[in-house]
Formats: sequence, structure tokens, C-alpha cells
Amino acid sequence: MKLITRADLGWPASAAPSQLTAKGVKVHYEGTHVSPALLDDHDLCIKEWKAIRAAHLANKKEGYSDVAYNYAACPHGFLLEGRGLRRRTGANGNQPLNIAHYAIVGLVGSEGLTEPTDAMLSAIRDGIDLLRKHGAGSEIKGHRDGYATTCPGTLLYDWVKKGAPRPSGQDGQDDTDPPPAGGGTTYEPPAFPTGLRPNSKSPSARGLQKVMKKLGFLAASVPYADNYGPQTQEAVARFHNKYTQFRALGIKHDTAIGPRGWAFAHTKAYGGK
Ligand SMILES: [Zn+2]
Ligand SMILES: [Zn+2]
Repeated sequence: MKLITRADLGWPASAAPSQLTAKGVKVHYEGTHVSPALLDDHDLCIKEWKAIRAAHLANKKEGYSDVAYNYAACPHGFLLEGRGLRRRTGANGNQPLNIAHYAIVGLVGSEGLTEPTDAMLSAIRDGIDLLRKHGAGSEIKGHRDGYATTCPGTLLYDWVKKGAPRPSGQDGQDDTDPPPAGGGTTYEPPAFPTGLRPNSKSPSARGLQKVMKKLGFLAASVPYADNYGPQTQEAVARFHNKYTQFRALGIKHDTAIGPRGWAFAHTKAYGGK
């Protein structure tokens, strides 16, 4: 999961009312024109998400306390924090609907960029799984379920009706390779650490630096540190440019290691393969 937090976005804690549990999650789209330029420039995704929050805060009629959604998902597979965990959404149409389900918006619209990428679907799924770990029930629905709207558009709604499956080949828990048949000792890479992301401090950054050194993507002279700083980021970008199957779609300089890249790098470095 590639989570961009409110802190990353420079936003204060959400002022939205707390909502500790819900029946599940509703999926949304923007319902407007969304620029296809987003596909080539992740910075535009961040701009788009900030613009959505600004528009919601400026909406006097609705009186939003914050961006209306719990999370957004961008075409590059990033999950962008909105109200976040255990907060009531303002996006589902009315108060009973807002209490019943949390809300995730895919950054696609009714014109321009209309087709969600696999990475976006995977990020929405990440958000659903994350909300489920923190109070959401198992329901996955679209905004249009129980409310008169075309949201989340045909493509996302078709996917929701199928149960919002994680696309194959995307990061996640349900597409890991099955264990090899037979007994014997097989190398098990360590679990992907939560909190491991660029420009963030985590003891697991040291493990990442170690494996990047072992594979030759980071100079041996770089000292180990908890900080996932510029040198670690450059190493990960080099790793991704060699093993592009682990690189986020549409990002040429991907400095964020994901669960599959993490597992692959460890297996390659320590698994004797
Ligand atoms: Zn909607
Ligand atoms: Zn993006």
C-alpha cells in the first residue's frame, strides 16, 4: 500500500465527526471532467486532491468540515488520505447514508480520464482493506446504491458489483505467490513493514538500505539510518528501473518500495536464487 497521509499533504487533523464503525465502504468518482494529464504526472494527482478538498471547504451549502471522502485513489496506485479512519464521510448523499458507509473516491470522472487504471483499483482495494481493519464491515457498494446519482460511473460500478477484486499483478495480500510445493527450507521474506515510505523515519528503512546495498543499488559507504531519505529513495528508484514490474504505473522515478518489490528484493538478496 502506498499511503499519502494528511501530514504528507500538509493538512491538519480532520474536523469531521467520528464514526467508529460502518456497514462497509462506498466507491465514488469525481463525476466531472478529469484531466488525462494526471496519468503522466503524479504531482497533478496531489493538486487534484487538494483542489477537491478546497472546493468542499468552500461549499457553504453543504457546510463540509473537511474533504468529504475518507480516501482517494490516484491512477498511480497511491491511496490519498482524506478524513481517514473512523471518521464519518460527507459524500454519500445524506446523513443516514454517511453513517452507514465510509467513502473512497477514484480520481476518474465522467469525461477526460474516465478509465481507472489497475493501480487505481488496487489502491481503492487497499483503502477498503484498511477501513475494514478499523471498523468497516464487509459491504462494498457504489454511491448510486440507495441514492439517485450516476456515481461512481459505469466502469467503477461494474468493478464494485464484482466485489471490487484486486487486479492481478498489483501489490496486495491476496496475490502473493503460493508457497512452493514440497517440504524443505524455503526462504520467507520478512513482512512488508508498515510506515516504510519515502521521507519518513522507520527502523525498517535500515533493512531496506541493507537489501539495496546487497543488490548493488546503494553504495556500501552510505551509513544506515532510520530515515528513508534521498539516497535510499534514489536506490529504490534504480531498483524499480531495473525491475519495472514493481514500479508504479506511469511513474518513471518511483522511490517508494511496495510489498511485492520488498519481497522480491529480499528473496533475491537472501533467498539463494
Ligand atoms: Zn459519489
Ligand atoms: Zn498519482
